[in-house]
Amino acid sequence: MDDYGLVLNAGSSSLKFCVFQRPANNHWRLEARGQIDGIGTSPRLVVKGEHGEKMADQDVPVGDGRGAVNALAAWLKSHYGGSRVVGVGHRVVHGGAKFTGPVILDKGVFAELQALIPLAPLHQPYNLAAIEAATERLPDCPQVCCFDTSFHRGAPAVSELVPLPADIRKGGVQRYGFHGISYEYIASVLPELAPEIANGRVIIAHLGSGASMCALKNGKSIDHTLGFTALDGLCMGTRPGSLDPGVVLHLFQGLKMTPKEVETILYKKSGLIGISGISNDMRDLLGKEDPNATLAIDYFIYQAAKQIGALTASLGGVDAIVFTAGIGENSPEIRRRICEASKWLGCSMDEKANAAKGPRISTPDSKVSLWVIPTNEELMIARHTANLLGLK
Ligand code: ADP
Repeated sequence: MDDYGLVLNAGSSSLKFCVFQRPANNHWRLEARGQIDGIGTSPRLVVKGEHGEKMADQDVPVGDGRGAVNALAAWLKSHYGGSRVVGVGHRVVHGGAKFTGPVILDKGVFAELQALIPLAPLHQPYNLAAIEAATERLPDCPQVCCFDTSFHRGAPAVSELVPLPADIRKGGVQRYGFHGISYEYIASVLPELAPEIANGRVIIAHLGSGASMCALKNGKSIDHTLGFTALDGLCMGTRPGSLDPGVVLHLFQGLKMTPKEVETILYKKSGLIGISGISNDMRDLLGKEDPNATLAIDYFIYQAAKQIGALTASLGGVDAIVFTAGIGENSPEIRRRICEASKWLGCSMDEKANAAKGPRISTPDSKVSLWVIPTNEELMIARHTANLLGLK
C-alpha cells in the first residue's frame, strides 16, 4: 500500500481506528476499519477491509489504552510494513470554548487539552492517552485533533448559557454540545445529497447509543441538545437525557449516594437500560412484549419529538429532519414513530422510502422533508487531517 493516514477514536475500554490511503485529489479512500474492544478485560482486535471483508479477529494482550495503540501498531506493521504513516487524526471529545476547529498537535495544545480533563473526565483522559502513545511510537508523524465540541462554537450566547452565578460560569460551565464531528459531516454532504435544504433550517437527529440533536441554520449549528456534559437532552442507551437537577440532589442528600455511585447511575444505568431493566440496545427492545421495554421505547420517542419541537422554536421553523447514527440509520420503526409524533409540524413519511432507507423518506407534499443520511465521523477527521497537514 502507499502511504496512509490513521484515524484514532480512543474510549475507556475500546480503541476504534480507520486506515485511509493517502489522498489523491483530496479524496481519502478507506482501506480498513477496526477496533480493539474489551481493553482491561478480554481485549480483542477485529479489523475489516473496505468492503467489510475480515482482515483480523484475534485476542490481543492489551491492559490499557497505551497497550492498545502498541497492539494496533504491531498489526499495522504486519500488514503495511514498508508503508509510511503520513498523519494521525484523533477524535477528542472536548475542545472547550477555545478550539473552534481542528488543530495540529503540539506541546501547548496538549497542555490545554489536559486542562479540560475535569470537563470530560470519562472521555478526555483516554483520548489524550492515545495521543501520547501515538507520539511515542511515531515521534516525527504530525497529528491532528478534531473536537466533538467545535462545530457548535459560534452558536448564539443564549444557547451556550448555563444560568448559574457568574463565578461558577467563569470556570467553564457552559453548554458545549457534542457529536459535532458527525454534524459537521452531515452538513458537509447536504449540498450534494440534498441541495434544497443545505441552506435551510435542518434538525439532525444523531441517534446512536449516545444520542443528540443539532439545529442547523444555513449549515451552522445554532442549538443542540447535549449541554455541559454528554448527559443532557434525549434519552440514551445508558444516560437519562434531560433531568431535573433536584433528582441529582436527592441522590446525594436523600439516598446518601457517593459521587462515584451517582456518576455510575447517570452514565451507565439510566436511559433505555434504566427504564427497561433489559438492555441499552434498541435492537433488544424493539419487538419485545415486555411492558418495560415498551415504556423505554415510548419515552425515547416522546423525548425525541419534544426536542424536535424545542429545536424548531430555536430555528424559528423547520424545513427538514435528518436521521443518522446506529438507530437513526437502521431503524425504520423508530424513524416512523418520531415522524408520526412530529406530524403537527407537517411531517409526512413515505413508508416505502423509509423501509428502503431513503435517502429522502418524506412524501412530495410533506411540509418538512425527511431524510436518512449515514454519518461518517472518521472520514470527517481524515479530511481535516489531510487539509491541515497539506496532504493533497
Ligand atoms: P455509538 O457510536 O454511540 O456507540 P452507534 O451510532 O453505533 O453508537 O449506534 C449504536 C446503537 O444503534 C446500538 O446500541 C443499537 O441500539 C442501535 N442500532 C443499530 N442497528 C439497529 C437496528 N437495526 N435497529 C435498531 N437499533 C439499531
